[in-house]
Amino acid sequence: MIFELVKETTVANHFLAELRDVNVQGDRLRFRKNLERLGQILAYELSKKLEYETKVIETPLGKIETRMISGQPILIPILRAGIPFYNGVISFFDQAGSGFIGAWRIEGQEELDVELNYMAAPSIKDHNVIIIDPMLATGQSLLLAVERLMKHGKPRHIHVLSVIASQQGIDNVVKNMPMDYSIWVGAIDEHLNDKSYIVPGLGDAGDLSFGPKL
Ligand code: URA
Repeated sequence: MIFELVKETTVANHFLAELRDVNVQGDRLRFRKNLERLGQILAYELSKKLEYETKVIETPLGKIETRMISGQPILIPILRAGIPFYNGVISFFDQAGSGFIGAWRIEGQEELDVELNYMAAPSIKDHNVIIIDPMLATGQSLLLAVERLMKHGKPRHIHVLSVIASQQGIDNVVKNMPMDYSIWVGAIDEHLNDKSYIVPGLGDAGDLSFGPKL
């Protein structure tokens, strides 16, 4: 299942446009805020596919049956650009557990290589897991993250959440994801450049959120 937010004409288009626009994206506060807002919107869309159970709630005046998520998902942001996007997602899944993965692009090689240099995650056995990776470029870091996470148990379902994906990244995930999954993405862009950045994309989401790294 692949859900692409821009296929529907909504206010989300404004947030995505501001992330991409060179005349706006230089405002770091606004950039992070737009990532957060898209995290909230995609979390809401994804919540329609979670499992729910009926609970009785007591109001001051009576009782009412309502449907509540049964078993909170586990959220796994890929650092560092994943942080503002993750803040949006966790603001909708208040009680979710979280795990963190640091991914590092090894620059200066002909082919892009990715290394995972940090992981702190709970057991994910039988949970819905949401991997929060704002820029799904080649899909390499995501698939590497899934491989590592499998050592923490087999999840019920993996939800991949991205702001922008390349078609190549999507194809890579579709071909190589070892288990049930869904992809929730703001927009799917045409291609990657020779540095594996998404085109037209938005640039470097980590640098735009937090400033350039050494
Ligand atoms: N990471 C980014 O921040 N931007 C891209 O285009 C690809 C990966």
